[in-house]
Amino acid sequence: MPFPKADKIWMDGEFVDWDDATVHILTPTIHYGWGVFEGIRAYATDRGPAVFQLDPHVERLFRSARIYPPLDEIPFTPAQVADAIRETIRVNQHDSCYIRPVVYLGYGEMGLNPLPSTPRIAIATWEWGTYLGEEALEKGVKVMVSSYRRIGKNTIPPASKTNGQYINSSLAKVEALRAGYDESIMLSEDGYVAEGTGENIFVIQDGVVTTPPLSDGPLGGITRGSCIQVLRDLGHEVREDHVVRTDLFLADEIFLTGTAAEITPVREVEGRQVGTGTRGPVTTEVQTTFMDAVTGKLDQYKDWLSYVND
Ligand code: PMP
Repeated sequence: MPFPKADKIWMDGEFVDWDDATVHILTPTIHYGWGVFEGIRAYATDRGPAVFQLDPHVERLFRSARIYPPLDEIPFTPAQVADAIRETIRVNQHDSCYIRPVVYLGYGEMGLNPLPSTPRIAIATWEWGTYLGEEALEKGVKVMVSSYRRIGKNTIPPASKTNGQYINSSLAKVEALRAGYDESIMLSEDGYVAEGTGENIFVIQDGVVTTPPLSDGPLGGITRGSCIQVLRDLGHEVREDHVVRTDLFLADEIFLTGTAAEITPVREVEGRQVGTGTRGPVTTEVQTTFMDAVTGKLDQYKDWLSYVND
């Protein structure tokens, strides 16, 4: 499928044409993975496009960068980056879109010492439908447990969205696709369930919802946090506790959360049907509430949205 190009990409404070948004082949980011990024969505609402959890996403971008000097020397403030995101959506005239800010190292010195290089920042937007497929949101996906472990705390910090670390997620994703599954679930170095390759995981058994604690290595997903809030508001008990592989086999319901995947049910784990093999009642409830919230239909969650045209 051709890439759904937009008109412009914001690069270091200026808009450039989509096809001209290029970097030099010798930037250290290409060679060593130095970069941090975000994935954000804007949804169509009655008041025009609204960015879901804009400030928390921009804060996470800056937090990711703090772990990796000199990426922390982003030449813009978080407020300027948030404004630039809204402006990019306006310039590209999206009703809804996916948003990809990326901080990377410009063309400078080559070698394993990134400190002499200067960080640069770009924001791209494009119209992107469901990540795991429209059908997946309703019917669920089939997952396997990956043979690749999620990067350990002292290998590459898993708390950051760092460009280079995603080779770990991609290996697990390719493994799943080649084996006929839609997605991989990754275990921590200690063998606990951590998360999907680009999604957090929630497991429901006997009415209790459990999601792995951040100490087991999942990214602190912003959708994860919003889902915990929705589930608690709906009266469900949510625990952040270890999840082991057998919990996946015995669960009544499992769902994945993420900006790209939104809330996607899991219908099968390595050939074993999850619950009734269809989207379960708790998953349906949280998915419906979440989608109503992000499209501006629920006053209770209005703080989650930043309207682009206001
Ligand atoms: N885990 C990983 C590894 C991810 O890349 C993502 C996507 N950012 C998530 C979880 C979900 O996080 P969020 O809800 O903030 O998109």
